[in-house]
Amino acid sequence: MKIRVALLCSVVFLSLSAWCADTPDFTIKKIGEGVYAAISGDGSKAGSNAGFIVGSNGVAVVDTFVDVAPAKDLLAEIRKVTNLPIRYVINTHYHLDHTGGNAVFAEAGATIVAHRNLRGWLRTENLKFFGANPKPEQKARVEALVVPDMVYSDAVDIYLGSRLVQVRYMPGHTGGDSVVSVPDANVVFGGDLVWQHHLPNLIDATTDAWIKTLDKLLTDHPAATFVSGHGDVATASDVRDFRDYLAALRQAVGKTQAAGKSGQELIDAVTAELEPKYGSWGFSKAFLQRNISQTADELAGKKKVPVPAAE
Ligand SMILES: [Zn+2]
Repeated sequence: MKIRVALLCSVVFLSLSAWCADTPDFTIKKIGEGVYAAISGDGSKAGSNAGFIVGSNGVAVVDTFVDVAPAKDLLAEIRKVTNLPIRYVINTHYHLDHTGGNAVFAEAGATIVAHRNLRGWLRTENLKFFGANPKPEQKARVEALVVPDMVYSDAVDIYLGSRLVQVRYMPGHTGGDSVVSVPDANVVFGGDLVWQHHLPNLIDATTDAWIKTLDKLLTDHPAATFVSGHGDVATASDVRDFRDYLAALRQAVGKTQAAGKSGQELIDAVTAELEPKYGSWGFSKAFLQRNISQTADELAGKKKVPVPAAE
């Protein structure tokens, strides 16, 4: 079927090329008036979730996927909804799977906005995701990431004409995380502070701060629709489940350390405790043991997290 479509596409007019493009590797979900989530399945080439907000005079995009190809697909999906200019991109944090397509929207004229720590980390900290010896093309890819044009410290409000978009710094996942809310639609883009029934990447995490952040999100937005960084669109109850996972992880690791266990023995004991409840969550095979060892390091005061660059 795909071959037949490709053949058909090769002979139809160029003006139909958008119709012929491969189906994007994510699903657009309308979650409020003019508010859309772009949800990627696990293993998707898009790499993470994103979304966009349509105001009266332009569009704000939240996160840009892992690479330019899915970001171009996102731009094409936005163009199916509106021809208003893409005025802003908000990067929820520096990780490559949320910033890899910045260039597409920068070229389209968008101003890229992020927490100030992101600017110093984007082209340095992202190298670690390619291991100790990144290949030249991997280095080049990280060094070519488009950095934010505008940074903020605690809060910034963006007006898309009459529509308010609130961007707030909240710690936990990386130390440079932004939460983006659209009050008139009761939608909150949590970035990777919110994982919907998926185990998180804790490589840069400060879990006690993260739990406080999630408690504040639930207090401030008790009935919001949350766009997660990974997994599906989330309810407040899903956010609570995720908060409880982080708390259970810290509790189980702390208790096992207090019993004198460390290393693989600790990992095995905590895995046995958490697996019955969380083994069915997405990414549990990839992340459960790592979550345990990273939290053990954090509780022992041995975990390294990115430090804000000097200005
Ligand atoms: Zn992340």
